[in-house]
Amino acid sequence: MTPIAHHLDEVRRRIAGAEARFGRARGAVQLVAVSKTVPVDAIRAAVRAGQARFGESYVQEALTKIRQLTDLALEWHFIGPIQSNKTREIAEHFDWVHGVDRLKIAQRLNDQRPVERAPLNVCIQVNISGEASKSGVAVAELESLAREVAALPRLKLRGVMGIPAPETDFERQRAACARLRAAAERLCGGGLDIDTLSMGMSGDLEAAIAEGATLVRIGTAIFGARV
Ligand SMILES: *Cc1c(COP(=O)(O)O)cnc(C)c1O
Repeated sequence: MTPIAHHLDEVRRRIAGAEARFGRARGAVQLVAVSKTVPVDAIRAAVRAGQARFGESYVQEALTKIRQLTDLALEWHFIGPIQSNKTREIAEHFDWVHGVDRLKIAQRLNDQRPVERAPLNVCIQVNISGEASKSGVAVAELESLAREVAALPRLKLRGVMGIPAPETDFERQRAACARLRAAAERLCGGGLDIDTLSMGMSGDLEAAIAEGATLVRIGTAIFGARV
């Protein structure tokens, strides 16, 4: 077994363990392997170990890899900050975008999504830590943005995404994840049809799953520390 296959196995075990421990259905949580800065050979090793969903944060780096891996049927998630001059490449080459936090970006992605591709799956990034430096829409503005995104025909609003401030204490991790969950529940309560809660990274995936994550984004625990 390669180290990557072994690490993937461990991450799958952590996910399954958290699903069981916190009363989640088995298989309720999808794993996106975050391959930013990781070479294509390592991605191929993960694919051989059964992984097909990958997350990238830097557009140029991602496009190079996507082109080198077109022989494989992979699902690509863009998880980085979105600059408006990069929306066309994102709309053309990705299946999901997790960091939408303003209408202008959503409109550009909508207008630039190629007609031959399925609507682009979108999560709205929510600023759950309330720090001015972090990207993401404020909780108070989430619902109006979500309604506007849901109305765009070439996008499919799937849910919300959050990046809690780094925190090692489990209960504090959980509290941050609970804020994102509450925000998602308000959208559901408001009649928006969403199915995705994108939260949980290598250091807090158990807390995220405890609070209802349906998709975790894991890099370091699979590919090792980024250099
Ligand atoms: C890098 C990154 C991850 C993965 O973080 P790890 O701690 O390496 O698991 C998840 N989500 C986003 C948005 C990232 O930028």
